[in-house]
Amino acid sequence: MAPSLRARIKQVMFDRVPGLLRRGPAASKRVALTFDDGPDDMTGQYLDVLDDLGVPATFFLLGEAAKNRPDDVRDYLRRGHQIASHGYDHTRFTELTRKQLLQQCAQTEEALGGQISGRPWVRPPHGSLDTASIVSLLAARYTVALWSVDSEDYGERDPAVLAERCSPGKVSGGDVLLFHEGQQWTLNALPRIVSALHGAGYELVTMHDLFAS
Ligand SMILES: [Zn+2]
Repeated sequence: MAPSLRARIKQVMFDRVPGLLRRGPAASKRVALTFDDGPDDMTGQYLDVLDDLGVPATFFLLGEAAKNRPDDVRDYLRRGHQIASHGYDHTRFTELTRKQLLQQCAQTEEALGGQISGRPWVRPPHGSLDTASIVSLLAARYTVALWSVDSEDYGERDPAVLAERCSPGKVSGGDVLLFHEGQQWTLNALPRIVSALHGAGYELVTMHDLFAS
């Protein structure tokens, strides 16, 4: 049981670090959809579905992929979404030296061409953080963006199960929902998830707007 207690204490400590975001104000009836690991060949389809649903989202992009797909990067912004960094090549931040970490983040910022929030946001690959990487990121004035509801769509391919995990009964105001790009099953689940949340009175906003409120 010791490791899980340690993990819980670590989580409580991390929740109190200013500049580290996990969950927005609980009083608001707003939630944010977030998508990691793009851009890729399916980005256009994700943006079309979100356009049809009329909701903005936040996309955490890999610098390497963004560099090779500048049209997609412009498209996210043109269509009203927030983009932010997910590291350069998906290496865990805990495996990088401070110098490598900041270099990867700078390379990614360059590929993204600046973020709408002003202060750069970053979501660490796999959510992997330790004290050293948190200190490095916060000292370099990054906002570290995590999540509060994991759809676990990297393991589950049934859109109905994904929709259930993100249904109004499982979600509350201020939640940040985690999904991934490049997956047909995630795409298929989105209309059901959005319509259920709208039906329950939730407004879907970018993660930036969720925390700005
Ligand atoms: Zn990722």
